[in-house]
Amino acid sequence: MTEHTNETSQNPSTLPPRLIDQAQADITVITSKLFQEYPQLCFGFSTKKNGVSRIPYGLNLSYMVGDDPNHVDINRERFFGKLGIPIEKLAIPKQFHGDFIKVASNPGVYDLCDALITSQRGVYLCITTADCLPIFLFDPMTYALAGIHAGWRGTKLKIVEKTIKKMTKEFGTLPSDLIAYIGPGAGVCCYEVGEEVAREFDARYLVRYASKKPRLNLKLATKLQLLDAGVSDRNIEISEYCTICNSGLFYSFRREKLNSGRMMGVIGIDSYSKIIKANKQEQG
Ligand SMILES: [Zn+2]
Repeated sequence: MTEHTNETSQNPSTLPPRLIDQAQADITVITSKLFQEYPQLCFGFSTKKNGVSRIPYGLNLSYMVGDDPNHVDINRERFFGKLGIPIEKLAIPKQFHGDFIKVASNPGVYDLCDALITSQRGVYLCITTADCLPIFLFDPMTYALAGIHAGWRGTKLKIVEKTIKKMTKEFGTLPSDLIAYIGPGAGVCCYEVGEEVAREFDARYLVRYASKKPRLNLKLATKLQLLDAGVSDRNIEISEYCTICNSGLFYSFRREKLNSGRMMGVIGIDSYSKIIKANKQEQG
């Protein structure tokens, strides 16, 4: 796998500061055009490139997939360091393909849930994926945020709609104000499913070819959940990246099975001072 050629042969924890800075600068971050219009918002999604973990892990950010935890530490420092986010400010759900949604009032690890919502400054919501969809929501009126993990099970359980309802209940979010980003994940170009999964979904989300397994369009199903919940079409951005066929940029559980690393997406707002600064910019 030639895409791992940037791995350093030195022990990364003993690199001189100049090289640590360079390693951080070399990290690739996937961004969102819609979120970039809000300078108060900090958002990014990782790739597999330029990490310190041994092949096949690269820039793996998960401790749960058999990678060396010391390497994961350094990978996380690089990715979150590039975004200017201190590790101790992360809120990370232990995802399990369900529809539990938790309010993250503080950073930390949240057991058994697949979505976190917050209205707190300095709490950065993380979602860990390799093919499942990472979905992020930002309410520019209340500054409420959400991070959601949805594979076919979470999509079937309508976790996106449920998360928006919980944001309304907890923070007074109006769905029509929300900005939504559906990140890199399994695309309809590649995501074959068995008939037992296909029959759980409406025909409009399936592509069928003779003598092949049906393919599920998870991104479309997620978009329609956002629209059904009241999010405006113009406020929805969908990443064109499919993790299964972009082996140079992303991990794919479907492609790599148990040796697959994981990407992370993160969303947060640092402080009110940044919001005030952003408001001033908007007012010119
Ligand atoms: Zn694909």
